Amino acid sequence: MKRCIALLLAALICLSGCGKQKNPEPKGKSYFTYFDTVSYVFSYAGDSDKAFDANCAAASETLGRYHRLFDIYHEYADMNNLCTLNRLAGESVPLEDELLAFLQEAKDMYTLTNGQMNVMLGSVLRLWHEAREAASADPAAAYVPSDEQLREAARHTGIDLLEIDPEAGTARIRDPEAAIDVGAFGKGYAVERAAEALRARGADGYVLNIGGNIRAIGTRPDGSGWSTGIRDPLEPEGAFALHICIADVACVSSGVYERYFTAAGTRYHHIIDPDSLYPADCYASITVLAGDSGLADALSTALFCMDYEESSALVASLEGVEACWIFPDGSVRSSPGFAALIEEANEP
Ligand code: ADP
Ligand code: MG
Repeated sequence: MKRCIALLLAALICLSGCGKQKNPEPKGKSYFTYFDTVSYVFSYAGDSDKAFDANCAAASETLGRYHRLFDIYHEYADMNNLCTLNRLAGESVPLEDELLAFLQEAKDMYTLTNGQMNVMLGSVLRLWHEAREAASADPAAAYVPSDEQLREAARHTGIDLLEIDPEAGTARIRDPEAAIDVGAFGKGYAVERAAEALRARGADGYVLNIGGNIRAIGTRPDGSGWSTGIRDPLEPEGAFALHICIADVACVSSGVYERYFTAAGTRYHHIIDPDSLYPADCYASITVLAGDSGLADALSTALFCMDYEESSALVASLEGVEACWIFPDGSVRSSPGFAALIEEANEP
């Protein structure tokens, strides 16, 4: 409980207001059961405890449902989920409408990102996941998947291997060796659905923080936004690299510090370049702002796998999307719209 309150306070401090006027005291609630991370719902709207609790219940129910639908490690008695789809690879599997809609959007994200965010990379990601697990169980036994293993796995990663039949309400992974992994897109997509559930209930002045995947809904009552810290990827436990003021937008970061293992003195993180099949090495972190949390999540991974020219050109081509790139040497570049939101170091 103490840890819970400390975490809640830490998250609240990161989300102090950018404005100078007095606003109602925020309310916060945390959950530990979704997407292997800590989730927070904050209200700055000055609503009653009863209204806040009902809104939290709606957000929590949505996150819980998508958590189960997207789980690739466990199946559930009341639904076919992505674990079922992987297990039955080769067969048509009846799926919930929400999951079919999500899979279609995942394919659209593949197209938008030139294949750099590919949910059908599962066979390759599995090799990296197993290596990470082995290193975590016994650091002395750490290994890196072999080139041969990676190249063989990569033969089963075509996006067209995922077939969706909306009429029949089914999906099929055509190749039994292929697998889906939605780690790059699922959480952000679910957060957007939770934000939708909140908006449908009239919630305004709310912030969702689902494992650092932030979704601001509306503004604070005085019309100002929230100050949020962008982690320093080179010192993730230390101070923030910078602060930005956000309102009515999703803010998602991908970084080398999030999940990694070390083998023979080299660090291997969890964002895999679909071309090299190894961890992408251009950046230390990328933060994306977008009007849709799913888009921000998909982009945060995809931009990581592109050189800066391609990465910044994609951001510039997308209306309402801004980004900040932090390079391995600590240097920072921001799109113009992102730069405009950066707060001076001496501002509160
Ligand atoms: P996080 O899950 O830490 O928020 P990301 O959104 O960047 O970070 O997603 C990383 C996860 O996405 C990895 O753990 C892996 O499961 C998956 N992944 C890694 N690289 C790719 C890629 N190029 N395309 C699709 N999925 C990827
Ligand atoms: Mg992502």
